[in-house]
Amino acid sequence: MSVVALWVVASVACLVVFGGTAPAAVAAPCPGNPDALGVSRVMTVTPGDYPRLGNMQYRRTLSLADREVVLTFDDGPLPPYTDRVLEILARECVKATFFMVGRHAAANPAAARRVYNAGHTIGTHSQNHILIFDRIPEVRAEHEITAGIASVGAALGDEKALAPFFRIPGLLRTRQVENYLQARTLAVWSADTNADDWRHISSAQVLTTALRRLEKRRGGVLLLHDIQPRTVLMLPQFLAELKKRNFRIVHVVPSNEERPALPPAVTAALPVPKLAWPRVATAGTPMTLPARATQTQTALAADAAPAEQVPLPPRKAHKMSRERLKTAIAENKTPRKWRLLALIGFK
Ligand SMILES: [Zn+2]
Repeated sequence: MSVVALWVVASVACLVVFGGTAPAAVAAPCPGNPDALGVSRVMTVTPGDYPRLGNMQYRRTLSLADREVVLTFDDGPLPPYTDRVLEILARECVKATFFMVGRHAAANPAAARRVYNAGHTIGTHSQNHILIFDRIPEVRAEHEITAGIASVGAALGDEKALAPFFRIPGLLRTRQVENYLQARTLAVWSADTNADDWRHISSAQVLTTALRRLEKRRGGVLLLHDIQPRTVLMLPQFLAELKKRNFRIVHVVPSNEERPALPPAVTAALPVPKLAWPRVATAGTPMTLPARATQTQTALAADAAPAEQVPLPPRKAHKMSRERLKTAIAENKTPRKWRLLALIGFK
């Protein structure tokens, strides 16, 4: 049999075995951890192929095989937690995608660079993470997107280090914002599932929620937050469970594979206004790793894996007139004040 014939036979066998999807590559060895979860394959994603993705909001999502998982972390960088996330991922040689908030990157440029230098993919998540993104004027939303990219790019020292991926704060999409992002050749990333890690639940609950939802979907794009202590606490055991349950990690990268080496850091942390969010645990708050095994094991055992609808983010049914909104902008209200105004329900 000729070499070509052998190749054809092997390819057909692969198609049969893997159902037409690319076979998972064997994970590269992980120094110091022979049992590491690792990355099973690298997937190139372009905004042209995936203008909008994630089954939480869109019909289309990444073409993942059975039990493949893409990890995404939103809202950082915030050093005490983002750094722990990096350590935990590094221990397992796992790569993820981080959707950074512009003002957090501006305040913590070194942390942003650590994420990049660890080999992770970086997208953006707006400048100020305004949680009424679906109700701010278009021009304001566009500024949030542009300023966020500029801030994270400046923190890294090279905007080319960014992937053309954007996640809308709170997933509060509008057709106008989606169209704007598409026109800018930015892929809109929703998610396939999440773990409720922004809610006031325990780290054990975050763990069981993440696993239950991934089991139900047999993988997918998982939304987590690297600014949440409960997420950091559950992460070691979460990765161990993924390994045990035969999930595999896919690392998503932009099409410009050449990752620029970052220039020497010149950006100092910029002063940012003290805002209520995100809250950083004080020195007195226990922050021990790994997560308490007994509590987590109990939660895992108690988890009956009932069928569950992945909830969409709530849309508050209040109205804020354009006039009021214009006045708020003219008076240079902060995003927090906007939110309060909106919650009070000014008409
Ligand atoms: Zn967010």
